[in-house]
Amino acid sequence: METDCIFCRIAAGEAPAAIVYHDDEITAFWDRRPAAPVHILVIPNKHMDTLNQADTEDTYILGKMILKAKEIAAKEGVDERGYRIVFNTGTEGGQSVYHVHLHLIAGKKLPVFHG
Ligand code: AMP
Repeated sequence: METDCIFCRIAAGEAPAAIVYHDDEITAFWDRRPAAPVHILVIPNKHMDTLNQADTEDTYILGKMILKAKEIAAKEGVDERGYRIVFNTGTEGGQSVYHVHLHLIAGKKLPVFHG
């Protein structure tokens, strides 16, 4: 745990968040500045700055994060309508918190990406 990392602190229960799910490996909580009616972040409890630090040993945890996001989408009733899962990575990827997280975004028609 990195004490100056806000997401480490949330995972450890030391900083406030609207927690949706927590176990000893991952934590899910509402984004404090939601970009859509459903905007939930899923993080590994273990600190990793970005996806660039992930290794084959993190395959399980990253898969678990995605499957948990899918489960939360169903719980929020947006699975059939659709949703987006995003890992912003690095400066040009738009990452602002340097603890790996996925965004589950849903509840409105999202803009389609163009190159
Ligand atoms: P990113 O830009 O991909 O790094 O996303 C970071 C996200 O974390 C942003 O959408 C922020 O609104 C959100 N965020 C930052 N601090 C907190 C916090 N303390 N609780 C909940 N969400 C947060």
